[in-house]
Amino acid sequence: MKPVIDIFGLPLEQLTRTLRNDYGKGLFHAEALYREVFKNGGKEIGNAPEFKNSLKLWAALEKAIALVPGKVEETFKAGELVKFITRLSDGLNIESVIIPMTRHNTLCVSSQVGCKMGCRFCQTARMGFKRSLSAAEIVGQVFNARHTLGHDIKNIVFMGMGEPFDNFDAVMTAVRVLNSQKGCDIALRHMTISTCGVVPGIERLARLNYPNIRLAVSINGPEDAIRSALMPVNRRWPLAALKKSLEAYPLPPRGVFLFEYILIKGVNDSMDHARALARFIHPLPVRLNLIPYNPVTGFNHQSPSDEQMHEFAQILTDKGVFVIKRWSRGRSVSAGCGQLGKT
Ligand code: SF4
Repeated sequence: MKPVIDIFGLPLEQLTRTLRNDYGKGLFHAEALYREVFKNGGKEIGNAPEFKNSLKLWAALEKAIALVPGKVEETFKAGELVKFITRLSDGLNIESVIIPMTRHNTLCVSSQVGCKMGCRFCQTARMGFKRSLSAAEIVGQVFNARHTLGHDIKNIVFMGMGEPFDNFDAVMTAVRVLNSQKGCDIALRHMTISTCGVVPGIERLARLNYPNIRLAVSINGPEDAIRSALMPVNRRWPLAALKKSLEAYPLPPRGVFLFEYILIKGVNDSMDHARALARFIHPLPVRLNLIPYNPVTGFNHQSPSDEQMHEFAQILTDKGVFVIKRWSRGRSVSAGCGQLGKT
């Protein structure tokens, strides 16, 4: 019996190889499969012109192709924002969030079930680590958002459950599948990988030389003592090592890093912290997202007042940092930053 074709996890060239080796077909049929699955939702593949006239081939492929993006178990809405829970084949659940933006929808995807990184302000960390997702399970979230739930997704952010660089190979395979113009057609510049600061992951991505993919880094502490208390990853790769890896990173011309900074009242939100953060950032090209802390169980802190947040942002702006204040959306359905894993 021929092996299952797990199409969600196969970059086009790999699918072509499989069709060539096992079915004596090639790129023509691989592209048709990609188009029917990723552009058209995979419901009528047998009626596509490439297969209509090759019924024997389609009969064989129909048995072999796995179209199992995971079952959407539940959806939650907060205004236009939609969080959905996917039940995976082994019964574990993951969460993804569709975020409407001015021009396109963005999908925040999970890369792991749970997370090992233990960031103190994060609900996912409280689940512990269950396992990493396969590339197919990552791509399955995009398929479900588009074809099961019917949302036009143009941007992907790897900012859901898990640390993407702790599942590097599967994430990069998913990127290649999502990027193919014959299928999902999501440009690299519309994909953002967000790390808590796993330096070897940043270095590996640098070596792959995908300059257009966007790199986001969760900072949250402008000094090692604060950052290590909030994010254990900082004990392994402190701020100096993180900065060194970013200085060596091959950004495209006019490219910037996206830095995330969650403001927690009385912990990292003073004016001295703002000045220290500006020093850390200089001279990196950065777009800084300031996000008020979203309360999670077991980490008893609050978000700062709007006034405090404005003052913090002003100090950075005065020092030439490009700052965006993000008022957290999705709090009511636990879809805000750091809240996934609560439902
Ligand atoms: S913030 Fe990200 S890296 Fe940190 S524990 Fe949560 S999911 Fe993991």
